[in-house]
Amino acid sequence: MKECVDRVVVAGAVFDRGRLLAARRSAPPELAGRWELPGGKVEPGEGGPEALVRELREELGVEVEPCERIPGEWPLKPGYVLRVWTARVLSGEPRPLQDHDELRWLSRRDWDSVDWLDQDVPAVIEAVRRL
Ligand code: C5P
Repeated sequence: MKECVDRVVVAGAVFDRGRLLAARRSAPPELAGRWELPGGKVEPGEGGPEALVRELREELGVEVEPCERIPGEWPLKPGYVLRVWTARVLSGEPRPLQDHDELRWLSRRDWDSVDWLDQDVPAVIEAVRRL
């Protein structure tokens, strides 16, 4: 039977000293070069914040603390929705270990200096308001 519930992708609006972390995707080809809030798919049985902690450990090599869910949910490809949490780095320095080839800390003034994935833009705007 077809799955009726959308699969959740969680992403982190990672804050540090008034800046937001942006990550440039290196794959798949149709997304490569575009910027996103780093994250990934929630696995069955996992909570959103828990998945975010795991994804950012795998992708960026950092331990984060999820803080606040940004209200809302945004459609991705069919069958997937994006949910975003603000987060702060507890330990480590973010590095692009998987899926990304560059990271950048953006201030309130230059948040739109990178080519964000279209689907991330509403959440990014909400995140920037909280900087
Ligand atoms: O990173 P991962 O491949 O697990 O992400 C799952 C899907 O969610 C991908 O299609 C990716 O493009 C999308 N995604 C997104 N915005 C994000 C994080 C992931 O559109 N901030």
